[in-house]
Amino acid sequence: MARIEIKENNLAIDRIEERCIHCGMCLKTCRENNGLEHDCINCGQCLLTCPMGALIPKYCYQKVLNYLSDTNYEVMVITSPAVRVAIGDAFGYEAGTFLEGKMVSALKALGFAKIFDTTFGADLTVMEEAQELVERLKNQKNLPMYTSCCPSWVNYVRQFYPEKMANISTCKSPIGMIGAMVKSYYAEFNEIDPKNIILVALTPCVSKKEEIYHNPDVDFCLTTSELVLMLKAMNIDFNNLKDEAFDALLGKGSGAGLIFGASGGVMEAVMRTAYYLINHEKAPRKFYEFKEVRGEKDFKEATIDLKKYQIKVGVINKLATVKAYETKLDNYDFIEVMTCPGGCIGGAGQGLVAVNKLKETRAKRIQALYQDDSQNKIKDSYENEEIKEAYETYIKKGKVKLHNEKAKINC
Ligand code: SF4
Ligand code: SF4
Ligand code: SF4
Repeated sequence: MARIEIKENNLAIDRIEERCIHCGMCLKTCRENNGLEHDCINCGQCLLTCPMGALIPKYCYQKVLNYLSDTNYEVMVITSPAVRVAIGDAFGYEAGTFLEGKMVSALKALGFAKIFDTTFGADLTVMEEAQELVERLKNQKNLPMYTSCCPSWVNYVRQFYPEKMANISTCKSPIGMIGAMVKSYYAEFNEIDPKNIILVALTPCVSKKEEIYHNPDVDFCLTTSELVLMLKAMNIDFNNLKDEAFDALLGKGSGAGLIFGASGGVMEAVMRTAYYLINHEKAPRKFYEFKEVRGEKDFKEATIDLKKYQIKVGVINKLATVKAYETKLDNYDFIEVMTCPGGCIGGAGQGLVAVNKLKETRAKRIQALYQDDSQNKIKDSYENEEIKEAYETYIKKGKVKLHNEKAKINC
């Protein structure tokens, strides 16, 4: 049977040839999820349905372990929202168990010098993207604006809709944002030469392995499944670890930043801040449980009252939906696109789950993120104290670049 082709320069996935039985499931998955036949945009979804475990992320964990034992470097890590609700799968926890404290503790046990929360980076993306949307609405230019944080989506546009590149937000992705802050703001504040920092992004995503190739601020992209391999190799007893907290300066994230991990989360988060920027007041209650954009429907939509503007928003929950809605997309003002079903919680770096349990597992992970947001006192990115401090003392002085000059490469 025909199967997916993996080119030599693919930075996201590998195949263990001896395991492959040429069943064709990988190609079927790629067709269904992405509508693709021959082109790879690095999402890794095929990896989650391969019955033989023949497809794997392009591993880098051995190199990270080597750096961890090299005293010439301070090895730091940033952790994406979706990892904390999937890491427990490998250690016997119920799907969707929220294990932020244990995840931090496990990374400390591995020897990372500092552990930061990419949720802080997501808050920066919200701040910048909301501002960018307000500007575009004011000027009625480059609408609809598309989100930029999924590198597979950006790859797809680059290959198949190059004329839409100007519609993609110029904001760096959350790992791009926090990566820039670690190597400038944090390094300056602590008088560390950024050359001595090795920054590892722990993510649910194999596509980010390609994204960081274009970004000198982030040195390695490690998946949730690779972290599990590292913990097992180092005999770290995950289940008995005590909860620990992220390191300060880049360690706090709002509820809005955390829900980035679920399809519709970026949209909901950006709407909360866009409302605030336009009206100088907190958004109405509805913005904190945006039912129309939540869940696993392929296409979700809503009309949103931002007082000065009534806008139409769309959320695309798997890439094949782009093609299906192609002719309608220009009717919207803002569109979130995530390649993986369910958003990043369903990323291919999250580790293998029985195929018939994938949907249920994703639903539990999504539920865990929304629950944390609902319990978080800080639900808006602009209320995050560390974000406020970073803007006042650093970002407003123009000391760091948070946008891509052209939305060509998502880094
Ligand atoms: S799904 Fe796995 S086993 Fe089947 S053809 Fe693809 S790589 Fe080979
Ligand atoms: S990684 Fe994604 S785009 Fe590439 S072959 Fe697999 S499913 Fe298709
Ligand atoms: S949806 Fe998230 S996990 Fe999937 S490819 Fe995009 S960024 Fe990666």
